[in-house]
Parts: sequence; structure tokens; C-alpha cells
Amino acid sequence: MRILKFGGSSLAKPDRVERVCGIVRRSRDEGPIAVVVSAFGGVTDSLIAAAHAAARRDGTSGSRIDGLEKRHQVAAESLASEVELEELLERITTVFRHVRELVHGASILRETSDRTLDAVASVGETLSAAIVAAALRRRGVEAEDCDARRLIVTEPRVDGARVKEVETRERIRRHFAEPGRLQVVTGFIASTEDEETTTLGRGGSDYTASILGSALRAEAVELWTDVDGVLSADPSIVQDAVPNERLSYDELMELAHFGAKVVHPPSVHPARRESIPLWIKNTFRPDWAGTFVTDVPTASASPVRGVASIGRVTLLRLEGDGMIGVSGIAMRLFGALAREGVSVIMISQASSEHSICFVVSPTDAEVAARSIAEEFAVERRAGLIDDLVIEERQSVVAAIGAGMRERCGVAARLFGVLGRHGINVRAIAQGSSELNISLVVDADDEVKAVNAIHDAFFVPGWSRVEIALAGIGGVGGALLEQFAERAAALERERGLRLHLVAVADSRGAVLNPAGIDPASAVQRLRSTEDREALDTMIEYLECDRGSARVLVDCTASETVPAKYGPALRSGAAVVTANKLPFAGPLDEWHALRDAGPGRLYHETTVGAALPVIRTLQELIATGDRVRRIEGVLSGTLGFLLDQVTAGRAFSEALRIAHERGYTEPDPREDLGGRDVARKLLTLARLLGRELSPEDVDVMPLLPDESWGALLLDEFWARVPEADETMVRLRDSAAAAGKRLVYLAQLGEGEARVGLEMVDRERACARVRGSDNLVAFTTDRYHETPLVVQGPGAGPGLTASGVFADLLRAIDEAEGGGA
Ligand code: ADP
Ligand code: ASP
Ligand code: MG
Repeated sequence: MRILKFGGSSLAKPDRVERVCGIVRRSRDEGPIAVVVSAFGGVTDSLIAAAHAAARRDGTSGSRIDGLEKRHQVAAESLASEVELEELLERITTVFRHVRELVHGASILRETSDRTLDAVASVGETLSAAIVAAALRRRGVEAEDCDARRLIVTEPRVDGARVKEVETRERIRRHFAEPGRLQVVTGFIASTEDEETTTLGRGGSDYTASILGSALRAEAVELWTDVDGVLSADPSIVQDAVPNERLSYDELMELAHFGAKVVHPPSVHPARRESIPLWIKNTFRPDWAGTFVTDVPTASASPVRGVASIGRVTLLRLEGDGMIGVSGIAMRLFGALAREGVSVIMISQASSEHSICFVVSPTDAEVAARSIAEEFAVERRAGLIDDLVIEERQSVVAAIGAGMRERCGVAARLFGVLGRHGINVRAIAQGSSELNISLVVDADDEVKAVNAIHDAFFVPGWSRVEIALAGIGGVGGALLEQFAERAAALERERGLRLHLVAVADSRGAVLNPAGIDPASAVQRLRSTEDREALDTMIEYLECDRGSARVLVDCTASETVPAKYGPALRSGAAVVTANKLPFAGPLDEWHALRDAGPGRLYHETTVGAALPVIRTLQELIATGDRVRRIEGVLSGTLGFLLDQVTAGRAFSEALRIAHERGYTEPDPREDLGGRDVARKLLTLARLLGRELSPEDVDVMPLLPDESWGALLLDEFWARVPEADETMVRLRDSAAAAGKRLVYLAQLGEGEARVGLEMVDRERACARVRGSDNLVAFTTDRYHETPLVVQGPGAGPGLTASGVFADLLRAIDEAEGGGA
């Protein structure tokens, strides 16, 4: 016999239940099995929340319960056969009628008793078992649901009630004595001898499976979940967590105890007692072996098999001179805690015996403190023991692995890496079995600590960079395509893994620490209604998980640049194609410049991907003096003037440019010259010129300033009026052997953009089409200027420039040890 348990994550939607049915059918063909199911994913949480809402009378419990009922009806309709459906739906109705009665009671009393909570929570499993059994029958498997309250007997305590082993074992054996239909057993729930419903603690369906397995001396207990087994860390904290092929029971127990929620901690005991192997398998990858757990110690490359953590605990410290050398203090301390039923997560005693630290759940902290104060009242009055020190918002982080026994230097490596990341360790404990080293850190440091320790023991062959992208328009979209194309090669050739953790547009962000596939990121963002705020994305990026972090801004918005400062100050780099922040008021530019020197990359804000900014920065860095900059910086205006020079009417040229998408939706944006002025201002400021936007003298290409106030239609109607002027300008330029160029010029005391007649011989007169050009006249390049020229627009090119900046940011982060 094998026991297969399917968790809520494997049953969250009807199509997942179909998968589960497939796995069950295949397993049944290989030998006898029994199935244990959790409630559908999220149902237990919702039931408990509904009960609390009723007690609070916040008016939401009714709709919460309606929603749950609907969800089960929909599942039944899609999974059960037609002949069974009516009866199943009736059963669902009856169950929810009962839930409403229970919850109504809570609302009258304005509180939820533990009993009520257990009774309400239990219906999730009874319904999922009924629906899964019906789904199996529809697919030709003779199955029936089995209420575990008939099998598992516990003490009266709620939520994590103690199992009465002998009675339970007998009942299970009796129930399974006769071969019959495949049993689909409700996980998590049990009952007392008086038939009062109890539960085995959150996540307790694993325990149900293990209890069944041990009572039936099963060949194996398989826990089917949504990950590839027991990983080296929680994948929502460490993106590169790797699955363990094998673990010992002890290792699994330690990992589970210290927060690896993939297995409910008590579940290991029954299996270990009967030496029943446990498999942790992935419902979504059934052919993957998963993790195999037995009592045979296992060899592995790393002495550490996993890093786990428990967030938000409270650290209590008892200290005082009166404790030194006095025996029995620890016994009295833990006696006082045991009397109140407080469970201690971790203990550490200084060898001076001057202090004992221990960690409890925040909900237990108050009771613990009171009980200890009473226990040591006499010593406190005598000044022998100080008041208990209570530190909230702490986390326990543990490195676990039997291999730590044989290898020295593990602790040194662990503390070394924490030190390098500036993480302060509040308390340390090492079990004498040397199976784990656990330590307490500030809750804010938890994620960083887990990642740092993980990286120290599971060295990947590549380094990861976390990227948050704002803007999925032309440039952002093209960048995502380039990511998708280049990702594999970058990993192969440069050992670099691009990890897109968030994408955002103006309506908010989608955030996934496990990574978002760039190929489907746009689609994913568009189809997500429930967005995160931009601030949440930035907060995520601010947290140092030991990887390089980059905020990429492909928007033209004013809100995203406001986040550069916080991102830069947290040590992230910012790569941006957004021109606004570099050409705004002077004080804003100063704030930006000072926020993260050297970590802000914006090559594409002038001339798209052309190396304009980099060239200027290198000239400055190597001590050259830049005397003059001239630029042809608008592909749109370049195209227009080309067409006019070739004899086309200005109005017609403008219409063509507009139709081909070369202009902004309102072409006056381009004709006004502001975009060119911004680029010139950006270059000026990089040169150290303290210029404000008003300091740039802008001569618009718009023939008449009043046209700025027209409606767009009126504007288009009047454009032909400008044709004549343009012909005249063109002809006089031609007569003088010159060419019309919309030029940006920065010289001593001069910063201006506007239409110029330029000698045909000059570099800037030879630019064609939508090309850009920037000419630097410097001390070194004084006879002929240093010229950067080429296509300076287009989403694909701009994205490639952003990509290049990103790679530069990563190289410099690694080289600079950011
Ligand atoms: P189920 O619904 O199948 O019982 P759970 O949600 O209870 O699944 O447990 C699986 C989840 O546990 C994973 O999705 C993962 O987020 C989390 N988890 C935490 N630590 C680990 C770990 N070390 N290995 C695997 N999963 C872990
Ligand atoms: N449904 C229960 C819970 O959510 C038990 C389980 O999932 O194992 O805690
Ligand atoms: Mg679980």
C-alpha cells in the first residue's frame, strides 16, 4: 500500500484536480493506494477569515461564504458526472448551511471559540474529498470519500491537537482491513472520543498521510505538492533554491521545524517510527523524482542541505548576576513556560551562564513574560535577576544538514558571510547533534540572511541580476524581446542570469520573486487586474538579497524617476531611457546626480543607442576639456528637412512623417524643439554646466508660436501656410551653398537649439534621414571634432542601448562589489 497526499496547491483549480486524477489512476495501476486530500488551495484560510469577520461583525462574512460555496459548486459541476451532480450539489448546500449557522453563532457572541474555528475549518477537507472522489469515479476509478474523523482520534485540544496513537492505529487498520474502493481521506481533520471535531494544525494533511502510512505500514508516503521536492530554501525567498534528491528524517524534521512549510513538522515522526520512506513530489512535474526521505544519512556536495527561516518571532532574554553558577535556573524558566503551554522555538545560553535567550511566537510572548516574572519574583526583588528583555520583530534563520558534523569550518563560513553583508546576529544556537546552526536576526534582515547563507553553500555556476522594468511600450516591449532572445546565451557565455522580478506600466506592477518569463511578461501584466503599487515594486528592489539589482525605466513618466533616489540609495543601479529627469529643474537634477554617483545609466536619453554620453564621460574622465558640442539630435526634424531640401512641400513631408510614426501623436511636440533642448541640457549638465531648462535658447521649427494653442485639427489645416516660408529658407540656404539643419549647440556661454544654415562641408550638414550626430570639439580634438553618428531613434535600437547599459551596470556592480 502507498499513501498519496495531495495538498491544497495541487487542488486549487478544477484543471489541477484533473491532473491529480491522472496521477492517482497511474499510481493505482502500480499497486494498492489510498489518497489523502487537503482543502482546495486557500479554502482553509478563507473559512477561518470568514469566522473571524463574523465575530468582528465587519459585514464581509456573508459574501466570503457565498464565494466559497460558489467555488465548490463550480468545481463539482466541472468535475463530477452528471448523474452524481445533483446529490453532490445538495451536499455542498447542506455543508454551507451548517457553516452559516456556526458563523452566525460567532457573530452573536462577537467571538469565535476554538471549537467553532475547528468546525468551520474542517469543511474544506470534507468537501474536497467528496469532489475529488466524484471526479475519480467519473474517470473510471472506483473511489469513495472517507471522513478522517472516523479514523483519527485526538485529545480535545484544538488546532494541533495531540493524536491518540493506539486508538487511531486500531481504527485505521479496521477501516482498511477489507479491500474495497479506493479511499479518498480528508486530511487535516480529526475528532475526539466524544466526536468533537478537531484539527491537526495548519498544513496538517501531511500528518494525516503519515499517520495512515505508519498505521498501515505503507511502502511509502508520497506528499504531492507544487514544487520539485524539499528545496535548499523557500523558493519565495531564494530564487535559485535547488531540490534535494535525498534527505534523512532528521534533516527534514529540522527543516520543517525551522519554517520549511513544504512539510508539516509532526508528519515526520510516524513515518520515521515505522521507517516508512517519504517522497515529496511535484504534481505539475510528475515524472521528476522529487525528494526521497529515509533514515539513511545521505552524502552531498554541500554540508548544508537547506536554509530555512521563521519570520516575525519574539526574542526574550533573561539575565542577571544571580544566575551565574546557580543550578536549576533553566529548569525553572522552561517549567514556567511549559505550565502556560508556550512552545519554545530556539534556546541559547551564554557559557558565562549570565543570560539565557529564547525565542517564542509573538502570540506567546506576553504569557511567557508574565509566567517568568512570577517564577523569578523573589530573585528580581533581590536584584539578582533583571527584568526580562523582550525584543520583537526578530527572525530565526537556520542552516541544516547532517554533513555539518563531519566538516569543520561550516560555522566560520556562515558567520563570515553574514558579517560581509553587515547582518547583526542577535543569538546563536547549535544543536549538539550538529544538525543545525540557528541564529536570530532582525526581521528586516531575514531575506538577506537566508540568501547570503544559501549563496555561501550552494554556489551556482552563474550570478543573478534582479531586474524590475517599468514601461512596456515600444522600448520596454523591445527590451523584453531582447531579454528573451539573449537570456540563454548570456548564461552560457557570461555566467549571467537575468531575473526579471517585476514589470510595471502606469496601472501598477506584477511582482514575482521567482522570476517572470520575459517572453510572456507583457501578456502577463496586461491580464493581471490585481496589480501591486509601483512603491511595492521599488520596496522589493530595495531589499538586498545578495544579487545585483537594477531598476529599468522605459517610460516617459514623471512618477518613475521619483523612485530613482530610493533605489540608488539602496545600492541598486538605475538604467533609464526616460529623458525627463535629466532636463527638469536644476535642484531635481542635483538630487538625482548626488543620489547614486556612478550607478545611474542613461545612454539612451541622447541619440538612442549611440555612444554619446559614454564618449562624453570618457573624455571628461581622461582629462580632456570639451570646448563645444554640436548635435543633430532629432531624427524627426532631420527627416522633415531632408524632404524639404529634396523639394517636397513642408506640409506634405510632415504628413508623411506622421503617417510613418516618426513624429509624436501631436507633431508640435517635435516641431517645438523641446525634445532636442532636453538632450542638449542633459549633455550640458554632464559637462558640469549648471543650466536650467530656461537657459536653453529654443527656436521652434513651428512657424508661428500661436499655433501651439490650436486644436490639433486646426493645426493640421494651417500647416500648408508654412510651406512658402520653408521654400524660401531652403532656397536662400542653397544659394549660399549651405544646408538647413536643426542644430543643438553648446559653447562658452551659449546653449541653443534652432534652425541653422550650415556649410555643406561641415559634418552636421552631412547627416541624412533620421540619423543623429554629435560632434565634440575638445582640446584633443580641436581641428576635426570627435563625431558620433548613426541612427538615433527607434524602439529596437533604444532598447539595445538600454540593454547595453544594463550589462554595464551589472559588470560595474560585480567589479565594484555592490
Ligand atoms: P501543499 O498545498 O501541497 O501542502 P504547501 O503550500 O503547504 O503545499 O507547501 C509547499 C510550499 O512550501 C512551496 O510552494 C513553497 O513555497 C514552500 N516552501 C517553503 N520552504 C520550502 C522548501 N525548503 N522546499 C520546498 N518548498 C518550500
Ligand atoms: N487545509 C489545511 C490548511 O490549509 C491543511 C493542509 O493544507 O494541509 O492548513
Ligand atoms: Mg502543506
